[in-house]
Amino acid sequence: MSERVIPLVDQRVAALTAPRPTQPVPATGLLGDALGRPLRDLRISVTDRCNFRCNYCMPKEVFDKDYPYLPHSALLTFEEITRLARQFIAHGVQKIRLTGGEPLLRKNIEVLIDQLAALRTVDGEPLDITLTTNGSLLARKARALKDAGLRRVTVSLDGLDDAVFRRMNDVDFPVADVLEGIAAARAAGLGPVKVNMVVKRGTNEHEILPMARHFRGSGVVLRFIEYMDVGATNGWRMDEVLPSADVVQIIRTELPLVPLEHTATGETAERWGYAGADGRHDPALGEIGVISSVTQAFCRDCNRARLSTEGRLYLCLFASNGYDLRSLLRGGADDTAIASAIGAIWQGRSDRYSEQRASLPPDAGTGARRVEMSYIGG
Ligand code: SAM
Ligand code: SF4
Ligand code: SF4
Repeated sequence: MSERVIPLVDQRVAALTAPRPTQPVPATGLLGDALGRPLRDLRISVTDRCNFRCNYCMPKEVFDKDYPYLPHSALLTFEEITRLARQFIAHGVQKIRLTGGEPLLRKNIEVLIDQLAALRTVDGEPLDITLTTNGSLLARKARALKDAGLRRVTVSLDGLDDAVFRRMNDVDFPVADVLEGIAAARAAGLGPVKVNMVVKRGTNEHEILPMARHFRGSGVVLRFIEYMDVGATNGWRMDEVLPSADVVQIIRTELPLVPLEHTATGETAERWGYAGADGRHDPALGEIGVISSVTQAFCRDCNRARLSTEGRLYLCLFASNGYDLRSLLRGGADDTAIASAIGAIWQGRSDRYSEQRASLPPDAGTGARRVEMSYIGG
């Protein structure tokens, strides 16, 4: 077994300068990148802070009291986020996911949701606005989020065993409070609620079946995520990845599953339905999803852009740098210039890290140093 190295990092490397194309890149809703992939999904990180210290994401040794989080003045304001979102939408974005860090720690987040909910896609449809949360503040906030225009939530939960979960979040946070948050989200109409479980071999794979039993037939869609080599601080090792195929096998030993169709292009989860007595999918029992970010690359359909807390546009979860859009906003650029910059950046995109992972040296990102997930969001 190789020795684990957890480097200390400051990810605030100089940003890439956003281009100012001489010819405007018109926002037609039909933008494609260098590999022909459209822009449909925008993930916005609203804070780089979190009240958990999941060791696969923000290990305590690195994210301690001396960690240099962004100062408030560096964060995009809600107005800046909404202004950028409008330009992304003009290029084809249909779905916005708010994330972080822990997005519910951002003060008055419902005000941002309210502003985003007023936007329309190029086809005049309302946006699909969702949010990924650790659930710790959800019981308190679910109703206000729904009232502001949030459609759905995804809640992260890595096990039902209280001791295992407290150890994984590393701040001694109890499972019961997250379950209460999930119940509140459902009661508020933020469904169907999805629950994300990151599976780490040797840490929580014995929680797979209890989680599956608990959520089967509950209306909640449980999704298992392979532990990924994002960032530079989590000391990732391939031997701690439990492939999704194994997860499906483990569940099948007790609960019969049948494969389901993908719902949308760019959808990251492979869907499996619980089978009834006749061996066919029983919708009342629901479904699970597996997200095989490590063992099965899905870059070919990747239509996701990521906007960091301070306004940098990242083209891939594994990128080491992002394009500085905040300087455009604060430097007085008009909407056409901003839309053109976004268009030109996307047109040049050829990132496909997961497809290339196997052929890269073990510590490589798409560039010199990978950005942390807590900074650009999941
Ligand atoms: N704090 C919120 C939460 O935990 O849901 C939102 C941000 S978190 C970075 C988004 C998602 O990324 C969570 O579902 C989390 O479990 C997942 N995640 C973080 N680090 C990961 C890793 N190394 N591998 C796989 N998933 C990871
Ligand atoms: Fe916080 Fe979410 Fe990262 Fe856990 S996964 S440390 S809850 S940002
Ligand atoms: Fe998209 Fe990058 Fe993930 Fe591939 S590795 S699916 S390009 S975010």
